[in-house]
Amino acid sequence: MDVFVHGTRCTVVMNSEITDRMAAAGHEQVVFVADAPSGLRAVIAIHSTALGPSLGGVRFWHYDAEADAVADVLRLSEAMTYKAAVAGLDQGGGKTVVMVDDPDRPRDEALLLALGRAIDELGGRYLAAEDVGATPRDMDVIARVTPWVTGLDESLGGSGDPSPVTAVGVRAGMRAVRHALDGTRSLEGLRVVVHGTGHVGTHLARLLAADGAVLTLADRAPGRAEALAAELGATVVAPDVALDLACDVLAPCALGPVIDLDRVARLQCRAVCGAANNQLAGLDVDDALAAGGILYAPDFVVNAGGIINLAEERGAGGYSHERALARAEQIEATTDAVFARACADGVPPGRAAESLARERITREGTGHWRPEDSTPWRTT
Ligand code: NAD
Repeated sequence: MDVFVHGTRCTVVMNSEITDRMAAAGHEQVVFVADAPSGLRAVIAIHSTALGPSLGGVRFWHYDAEADAVADVLRLSEAMTYKAAVAGLDQGGGKTVVMVDDPDRPRDEALLLALGRAIDELGGRYLAAEDVGATPRDMDVIARVTPWVTGLDESLGGSGDPSPVTAVGVRAGMRAVRHALDGTRSLEGLRVVVHGTGHVGTHLARLLAADGAVLTLADRAPGRAEALAAELGATVVAPDVALDLACDVLAPCALGPVIDLDRVARLQCRAVCGAANNQLAGLDVDDALAAGGILYAPDFVVNAGGIINLAEERGAGGYSHERALARAEQIEATTDAVFARACADGVPPGRAAESLARERITREGTGHWRPEDSTPWRTT
């Protein structure tokens, strides 16, 4: 097809590649956003609103090609749908990627406001949250022009740092792991390697230590694991050693993916259960772990405390930290259900969890969320 742009003949190739991929994975809507004055270039993907408004982080990242950004936003928004569905939340999955040259450089206010307006135009079908590269200040600026932002500071009516709730959820998942391994839910004496002692890893290590687990810690930031180990009486090892250490549970709490097929062959743990997103390099790693007799607690099941915390912002009477913690404890029962389903179907836990998520969407999904269904729980 030929079109004229500023008097120049251009040949436009009609390319259905993106809509084909959307249809194959069940995406509802993908919005391309550009704002020339501020240089904003972003893609917002809404995978599913069948259970409620879509929720997902805003990621500021450098992509070599726009196609990489599209692939990322499609994959991440779909994963958010399964995470919310299996956690029993009445919300769907979405994501935003903002293409930037340098994710570490502070963003211009104009760019953030332009993004906020684009999010606002979706009328609550997409709820934004902080993700890789985003700072609390970025989210505060976006929230000036739209109420559809979650996870703001508690002083701004948000739920604040989600990592304590995430850690409680991971520990709950670990009780289910212990039960599957040893028939007890006590964590006493469980040998756990925590790989990554940042926000979640630190909270998790403290909870596990209080429950009598025997801890080994690792972090690539100098001194970080050492300081925590001194507090908890734990052992410290180098990060690359940590992954291959003999233990009961490896808890990846740094940045994924840390387990690929080569790593599976070297693992000496009995189970993997941690907070990091996308711990496995692919679904074939889920299969390889199962074949190797290593129990995998799917990351998107046990780390759902973060979105559980965000969901509580919209709960009756506003955000309640106690309610969020109580709900995160339910991840133990969810993990039990995932393992039971994996046994019944003879599939690895990751695939079993996705089946449970898809079935809930089919069973309880009420169709597409519309802007008129949304009520702001916070004013800008
Ligand atoms: P964080 O940045 O506070 O901590 C990450 C820690 O990992 C840092 O201390 C860093 O030095 C360390 N690290 C990075 N690469 C490492 C490596 N190769 N070896 C050893 N240590 C390494 O992040 P966080 O908020 O604690 O989140 C941890 C993980 O959990 C991330 O994958 C995140 O996506 C996921 N997650 C976090 C939450 C939450 O509530 N914060 C919720 C769900 C999932």
